[in-house]
Amino acid sequence: MSNYKAYCLDLDGTVYKGNTPIKEAVEFIHYLQVKGVEPFFVTNNSSMTQKQFQQKLAKMDINTETDHIVSSSIAAANYIEEHFPGKSVFMIGESGLQDALDSKQIMRTQDVAEVVVMGIDRQINYEKFAIACLSVRAGATFLSTNSDHAFPSERGFLPGNGAFTKLVEYSTGVDALFMGKPQPFMLEYIQKQFGYKKEEMVMIGDNYLTDVLTGINMGIHTVHVNSGVNRTEEVRQKVAQPTYFLESLSEWII
Ligand SMILES: [Mg+2]
Repeated sequence: MSNYKAYCLDLDGTVYKGNTPIKEAVEFIHYLQVKGVEPFFVTNNSSMTQKQFQQKLAKMDINTETDHIVSSSIAAANYIEEHFPGKSVFMIGESGLQDALDSKQIMRTQDVAEVVVMGIDRQINYEKFAIACLSVRAGATFLSTNSDHAFPSERGFLPGNGAFTKLVEYSTGVDALFMGKPQPFMLEYIQKQFGYKKEEMVMIGDNYLTDVLTGINMGIHTVHVNSGVNRTEEVRQKVAQPTYFLESLSEWII
């Protein structure tokens, strides 16, 4: 397997499972760091701030800089800064999205706005949906962090941001533009911010429809690891194949 400069790792199912670290992934990250390579962490989870992810990883013995943690919220804030500077923004979301917008000094309003951005919000209510729908009907740009329909919890699968986004899409007849995987915005952000060439980047993950397709959409090499949602046999049936298959990340060290 090639040597890369930017190892972009998915988090849940690749580096950890919920609050449990995946040993082989932690060792792989340490191995890269010993060689002087700081990996990137690329997650659709919009709810947490870079600082919160950093603290979560630190508990698993993974020490990293906040600017190497890229969530769909970071991608959304960058997209808004780049394409809609100075526009009013109505946000539905939690601290991860809030913090990402604040870090770019993006002004938010509680009223009908020119840009609507949605991320998971476990305090969502009718009024928030109403303002989002009124804005979109009035012509606002409609962005959403990620299209995940559901996410796992101790209680079972709970509704994800994709399900809430669907409500606004259904009511207004307007489709959202998603910032998370499988769209390549997070990888484009890393490429631009750190100045990598595509051949220097690799996307590593457990989920074909998000991780592997993100890398393929970006035009970079991809690695499927058999530690999470999709089994290797399943992924081998797909038309567009990842560059490499690994049982676990420990295989890469040897
Ligand atoms: Mg995953």
